[in-house]
Amino acid sequence: VHYNSARFNKSAAKLHQCPEDIGAEVAFAGRSNAGKSSAINTLTNNGKLARTSKTPGRTQLINFFDLNLEGVRLVDLPGYGYAKVPVEMKVHWQKHLGEYLEKRQCLQGVVLVMDIRHPMKEFDQMMVEWCENSQMPLHVLLTKADKLKKGPAQSTMLKLRKELQAVLGDLVTVQTFSALKKQGVDQLRNRLDHWLLP
Ligand code: GDP
Repeated sequence: VHYNSARFNKSAAKLHQCPEDIGAEVAFAGRSNAGKSSAINTLTNNGKLARTSKTPGRTQLINFFDLNLEGVRLVDLPGYGYAKVPVEMKVHWQKHLGEYLEKRQCLQGVVLVMDIRHPMKEFDQMMVEWCENSQMPLHVLLTKADKLKKGPAQSTMLKLRKELQAVLGDLVTVQTFSALKKQGVDQLRNRLDHWLLP
């Protein structure tokens, strides 16, 4: 898959607005500010693809990006936990995201983006639980790894890998990543290839 070829397809506020449920998709999830947009931009080598700036109007939408292969897509799920969002919007968000995760047949795996300095917050635990219940493959991206020294970054990764494998077994993989240093990009691409290629 040529991730550099990613281009915006559409945004969906509701499930019925998503592209037809055929082909193969990988969805990126994460708490707001975890570094999800930066990771997608780095993966696709496209600084504008997932706008790093977040306007309240955009945070609620599911964004679809087409890749060079027919029917193969990247999906940017709404960032979770945006502090200024009112409660009713959070409820809508959960319902909306839950619906996508439960019903989307072409979803091959979830990339869960966490700030390596603050891993496994409540939202992340919820996503892990969801992956366990639905037996969905999960790839954890511990991003902003450049914020830690190599040793602590590595031990955080190994500890989390062990914890998650105890719950999810072979369904889960964990890696460090840095959008700033472009570290871990090949590893991420290999995992996505594994999910997206027939
Ligand atoms: P999102 O809300 O999850 O999409 O997060 P963003 O991609 O917008 O990133 C949130 C903040 O973290 C921004 O200020 C980014 O510049 C910063 N950031 C993202 N990735 C990295 C990284 O790998 N290293 C460092 N040092 N900062 C990062």
